[in-house]
Amino acid sequence: MNCQQARELMDAYLDQELDLMTSSQVGRHVAECEGCGEVYAKYRRVRDGVSEQMPYFAAPPKLEEKIRAELDLRKEERRAAKTVANWGRWAAIAACVAGVLLFTFVSVRALRRPSGSELLAQEVVSSHIRSLLANHLSDVVSSDQHTVKPWFSGKLDFAPVVKDLSADGFPLIGGRLDYLNDRPVAALIYKHRQHTINLFTWPSAGGDSGPQSYSVRGYHVLQWTRAQMTYWAVSDMSAADLNNFARDFMR
Ligand SMILES: [Zn+2]
Repeated sequence: MNCQQARELMDAYLDQELDLMTSSQVGRHVAECEGCGEVYAKYRRVRDGVSEQMPYFAAPPKLEEKIRAELDLRKEERRAAKTVANWGRWAAIAACVAGVLLFTFVSVRALRRPSGSELLAQEVVSSHIRSLLANHLSDVVSSDQHTVKPWFSGKLDFAPVVKDLSADGFPLIGGRLDYLNDRPVAALIYKHRQHTINLFTWPSAGGDSGPQSYSVRGYHVLQWTRAQMTYWAVSDMSAADLNNFARDFMR
Protein backbone atom coordinates (compact mmCIF):
# COMPACT_ATOMS: atom_id res chain seq x y z
CA MET A 1 0.00 0.00 0.00
CA ASN A 2 1.40 3.39 -0.94
CA CYS A 3 0.88 6.69 0.81
CA GLN A 4 -1.85 7.96 -1.51
CA GLN A 5 -3.93 4.86 -0.97
CA ALA A 6 -3.34 5.00 2.80
CA ARG A 7 -4.50 8.61 3.01
CA GLU A 8 -7.55 8.06 0.90
CA LEU A 9 -8.54 5.28 3.27
CA MET A 10 -7.63 7.17 6.41
CA ASP A 11 -11.15 8.42 7.22
CA ALA A 12 -12.68 5.01 6.77
CA TYR A 13 -9.86 3.47 8.80
CA LEU A 14 -10.53 5.83 11.69
CA ASP A 15 -14.23 5.07 11.59
CA GLN A 16 -13.47 1.33 11.45
CA GLU A 17 -15.40 0.98 8.24
CA LEU A 18 -12.79 -1.08 6.36
CA ASP A 19 -12.72 -4.80 5.96
CA LEU A 20 -10.22 -6.67 8.09
CA MET A 21 -7.62 -7.12 5.32
CA THR A 22 -7.65 -3.47 4.15
CA SER A 23 -7.75 -2.23 7.72
CA SER A 24 -4.62 -4.19 8.67
CA GLN A 25 -2.82 -2.95 5.54
CA VAL A 26 -3.60 0.68 6.39
CA GLY A 27 -2.63 0.03 10.00
CA ARG A 28 0.69 -1.45 8.98
CA HIS A 29 1.43 1.43 6.57
CA VAL A 30 0.60 4.04 9.19
CA ALA A 31 2.87 2.27 11.69
CA GLU A 32 5.78 2.03 9.23
CA CYS A 33 5.42 5.33 7.28
CA GLU A 34 6.35 8.40 9.25
CA GLY A 35 4.42 10.90 7.09
CA CYS A 36 1.21 8.90 7.10
CA GLY A 37 1.69 8.14 10.80
CA GLU A 38 1.65 11.87 11.51
CA VAL A 39 -1.41 12.47 9.39
CA TYR A 40 -3.12 9.62 11.14
CA ALA A 41 -2.25 11.03 14.57
CA LYS A 42 -3.68 14.41 13.51
CA TYR A 43 -6.89 12.84 12.25
CA ARG A 44 -7.29 11.00 15.53
CA ARG A 45 -6.78 14.09 17.61
CA VAL A 46 -9.43 15.91 15.59
CA ARG A 47 -11.88 13.05 15.89
CA ASP A 48 -11.30 12.55 19.61
CA GLY A 49 -11.56 16.31 20.13
CA VAL A 50 -14.86 16.44 18.36
CA SER A 51 -16.43 13.61 20.29
CA GLU A 52 -15.10 14.96 23.61
CA GLN A 53 -15.76 18.65 23.19
CA MET A 54 -18.85 18.91 21.04
CA PRO A 55 -21.91 18.91 23.28
CA TYR A 56 -24.42 16.14 22.79
CA PHE A 57 -27.97 17.36 22.46
CA ALA A 58 -30.79 15.10 23.47
CA ALA A 59 -33.85 15.48 21.20
CA PRO A 60 -36.58 17.42 23.00
CA PRO A 61 -39.41 15.10 24.12
CA LYS A 62 -41.91 16.97 21.85
CA LEU A 63 -39.81 16.29 18.74
CA GLU A 64 -39.35 12.64 19.64
CA GLU A 65 -43.08 12.32 20.18
CA LYS A 66 -43.82 13.96 16.84
CA ILE A 67 -41.39 11.70 14.98
CA ARG A 68 -42.77 8.60 16.64
CA ALA A 69 -46.36 9.66 15.88
CA GLU A 70 -45.37 10.28 12.26
CA LEU A 71 -43.78 6.82 12.04
CA ASP A 72 -46.82 5.18 13.64
CA LEU A 73 -49.09 6.99 11.18
CA ARG A 74 -47.05 5.74 8.24
CA LYS A 75 -47.18 2.20 9.63
CA GLU A 76 -50.95 2.50 10.09
CA GLU A 77 -51.40 3.76 6.53
CA ARG A 78 -49.33 0.92 5.15
CA ARG A 79 -51.37 -1.59 7.13
CA ALA A 80 -54.67 -0.05 5.93
CA ALA A 81 -53.48 -0.11 2.32
CA LYS A 82 -52.51 -3.73 2.75
CA THR A 83 -55.95 -4.56 4.21
CA VAL A 84 -57.71 -2.86 1.29
CA ALA A 85 -55.47 -4.76 -1.13
CA ASN A 86 -56.32 -7.98 0.70
CA TRP A 87 -60.05 -7.28 0.51
CA GLY A 88 -59.69 -6.50 -3.16
CA ARG A 89 -57.86 -9.75 -3.70
CA TRP A 90 -60.49 -11.75 -1.79
CA ALA A 91 -63.30 -10.03 -3.69
CA ALA A 92 -61.60 -10.90 -6.97
CA ILE A 93 -61.20 -14.53 -5.88
CA ALA A 94 -64.83 -14.68 -4.72
CA ALA A 95 -66.02 -13.22 -8.03
CA CYS A 96 -63.91 -15.78 -9.86
CA VAL A 97 -65.31 -18.67 -7.82
CA ALA A 98 -68.87 -17.39 -8.29
CA GLY A 99 -68.25 -17.15 -12.02
CA VAL A 100 -66.93 -20.69 -12.19
CA LEU A 101 -69.89 -21.98 -10.14
CA LEU A 102 -72.39 -20.16 -12.35
CA PHE A 103 -70.68 -21.46 -15.48
CA THR A 104 -70.70 -25.01 -14.08
CA PHE A 105 -74.36 -24.71 -13.06
CA VAL A 106 -75.37 -23.43 -16.52
CA SER A 107 -73.28 -26.08 -18.24
CA VAL A 108 -74.67 -28.88 -16.10
CA ARG A 109 -78.20 -27.65 -16.80
CA ALA A 110 -77.48 -27.42 -20.51
CA LEU A 111 -75.86 -30.84 -20.59
CA ARG A 112 -78.35 -32.43 -18.21
CA ARG A 113 -79.54 -35.66 -19.72
CA PRO A 114 -83.30 -36.04 -19.84
CA SER A 115 -84.65 -38.23 -17.05
CA GLY A 116 -86.19 -41.62 -17.72
CA SER A 117 -89.66 -40.08 -17.48
CA GLU A 118 -88.77 -37.32 -19.95
CA LEU A 119 -87.41 -39.88 -22.40
CA LEU A 120 -90.56 -41.94 -22.01
CA ALA A 121 -92.70 -38.83 -22.57
CA GLN A 122 -90.82 -38.31 -25.87
CA GLU A 123 -91.43 -41.94 -26.78
CA VAL A 124 -95.12 -41.52 -25.98
CA VAL A 125 -95.39 -38.48 -28.26
CA SER A 126 -93.56 -40.32 -31.07
CA SER A 127 -95.98 -43.22 -30.73
CA HIS A 128 -98.94 -40.81 -30.77
CA ILE A 129 -97.71 -39.10 -33.96
CA ARG A 130 -96.96 -42.44 -35.61
CA SER A 131 -100.47 -43.74 -34.86
CA LEU A 132 -101.99 -40.68 -36.53
CA LEU A 133 -99.65 -40.70 -39.56
CA ALA A 134 -99.78 -44.41 -40.35
CA ASN A 135 -103.55 -44.38 -40.41
CA HIS A 136 -103.29 -47.19 -37.90
CA LEU A 137 -105.01 -45.61 -34.96
CA SER A 138 -107.13 -48.56 -33.91
CA ASP A 139 -106.84 -52.32 -34.18
CA VAL A 140 -110.30 -52.64 -32.72
CA VAL A 141 -112.76 -49.90 -33.60
CA SER A 142 -115.51 -49.63 -31.05
CA SER A 143 -116.99 -47.11 -28.71
CA ASP A 144 -118.03 -49.96 -26.45
CA GLN A 145 -115.66 -50.60 -23.56
CA HIS A 146 -117.08 -54.13 -23.31
CA THR A 147 -115.83 -54.81 -26.82
CA VAL A 148 -112.47 -53.08 -26.48
CA LYS A 149 -111.41 -54.60 -23.16
CA PRO A 150 -111.86 -58.28 -24.17
CA TRP A 151 -110.09 -57.62 -27.46
CA PHE A 152 -106.82 -57.19 -25.52
CA SER A 153 -107.08 -60.49 -23.67
CA GLY A 154 -104.69 -63.04 -25.14
CA LYS A 155 -102.71 -60.24 -26.77
CA LEU A 156 -101.32 -58.80 -23.54
CA ASP A 157 -100.28 -60.35 -20.22
CA PHE A 158 -102.49 -57.85 -18.37
CA ALA A 159 -106.07 -56.58 -18.59
CA PRO A 160 -106.16 -52.82 -19.18
CA VAL A 161 -108.75 -50.65 -17.47
CA VAL A 162 -111.07 -49.43 -20.24
CA LYS A 163 -113.58 -46.68 -19.49
CA ASP A 164 -116.14 -44.99 -21.68
CA LEU A 165 -115.99 -41.27 -21.07
CA SER A 166 -118.41 -40.13 -23.77
CA ALA A 167 -120.65 -38.56 -21.08
CA ASP A 168 -117.67 -36.37 -20.16
CA GLY A 169 -117.01 -35.35 -23.76
CA PHE A 170 -114.27 -37.94 -24.36
CA PRO A 171 -115.86 -40.78 -26.40
CA LEU A 172 -113.90 -44.03 -26.68
CA ILE A 173 -112.97 -44.79 -30.30
CA GLY A 174 -111.09 -48.07 -30.02
CA GLY A 175 -107.93 -49.83 -28.95
CA ARG A 176 -104.57 -50.81 -30.35
CA LEU A 177 -101.49 -52.76 -29.37
CA ASP A 178 -98.40 -50.67 -29.13
CA TYR A 179 -94.85 -51.01 -27.89
CA LEU A 180 -93.44 -48.61 -25.29
CA ASN A 181 -90.84 -48.70 -22.54
CA ASP A 182 -89.49 -51.95 -23.99
CA ARG A 183 -92.78 -53.81 -23.64
CA PRO A 184 -96.12 -54.36 -25.36
CA VAL A 185 -98.73 -51.95 -24.01
CA ALA A 186 -102.42 -51.18 -24.52
CA ALA A 187 -103.31 -47.99 -26.38
CA LEU A 188 -106.84 -46.69 -25.87
CA ILE A 189 -108.05 -44.06 -28.30
CA TYR A 190 -110.39 -41.30 -27.23
CA LYS A 191 -111.69 -38.28 -29.07
CA HIS A 192 -112.42 -34.80 -27.90
CA ARG A 193 -114.00 -32.73 -30.69
CA GLN A 194 -111.43 -32.95 -33.51
CA HIS A 195 -108.63 -34.03 -31.19
CA THR A 196 -107.35 -37.54 -30.72
CA ILE A 197 -106.13 -38.78 -27.36
CA ASN A 198 -103.87 -41.80 -27.06
CA LEU A 199 -103.95 -43.30 -23.60
CA PHE A 200 -101.14 -45.83 -23.14
CA THR A 201 -101.32 -48.16 -20.17
CA TRP A 202 -99.38 -51.04 -18.69
CA PRO A 203 -98.77 -52.52 -15.23
CA SER A 204 -96.55 -50.64 -12.80
CA ALA A 205 -94.95 -51.83 -9.58
CA GLY A 206 -95.07 -48.34 -8.03
CA GLY A 207 -97.76 -46.79 -5.85
CA ASP A 208 -100.28 -44.17 -6.95
CA SER A 209 -98.70 -40.99 -8.29
CA GLY A 210 -99.28 -38.03 -10.58
CA PRO A 211 -100.63 -36.72 -12.74
CA GLN A 212 -97.28 -35.40 -13.90
CA SER A 213 -97.34 -33.18 -16.97
CA TYR A 214 -94.82 -32.95 -19.81
CA SER A 215 -94.71 -30.87 -22.93
CA VAL A 216 -92.97 -32.44 -25.92
CA ARG A 217 -92.82 -30.81 -29.36
CA GLY A 218 -96.10 -28.98 -28.74
CA TYR A 219 -97.92 -32.03 -27.43
CA HIS A 220 -99.18 -32.23 -23.89
CA VAL A 221 -98.47 -35.41 -21.99
CA LEU A 222 -99.87 -36.49 -18.62
CA GLN A 223 -98.64 -39.45 -16.64
CA TRP A 224 -100.22 -40.98 -13.59
CA THR A 225 -100.28 -44.30 -11.75
CA ARG A 226 -103.39 -45.80 -10.19
CA ALA A 227 -103.97 -49.30 -8.81
CA GLN A 228 -100.60 -50.54 -10.07
CA MET A 229 -101.29 -49.44 -13.63
CA THR A 230 -99.37 -46.62 -15.25
CA TYR A 231 -101.09 -44.29 -17.72
CA TRP A 232 -99.63 -41.94 -20.31
CA ALA A 233 -102.16 -39.66 -22.01
CA VAL A 234 -101.05 -37.59 -25.00
CA SER A 235 -102.87 -35.20 -27.29
CA ASP A 236 -102.53 -31.96 -29.22
CA MET A 237 -105.49 -30.47 -27.34
CA SER A 238 -105.01 -27.93 -24.57
CA ALA A 239 -103.35 -28.87 -21.31
CA ALA A 240 -106.57 -27.94 -19.48
CA ASP A 241 -108.65 -30.33 -21.64
CA LEU A 242 -106.09 -33.11 -21.14
CA ASN A 243 -106.20 -32.46 -17.39
CA ASN A 244 -109.98 -32.82 -17.48
CA PHE A 245 -109.64 -36.07 -19.38
CA ALA A 246 -107.19 -37.47 -16.80
CA ARG A 247 -109.40 -36.31 -13.94
CA ASP A 248 -112.48 -37.97 -15.51
CA PHE A 249 -110.58 -41.18 -16.21
CA MET A 250 -109.23 -41.40 -12.63
CA ARG A 251 -112.66 -40.75 -11.12
ZN1 LIG B 1 2.96 6.83 3.83
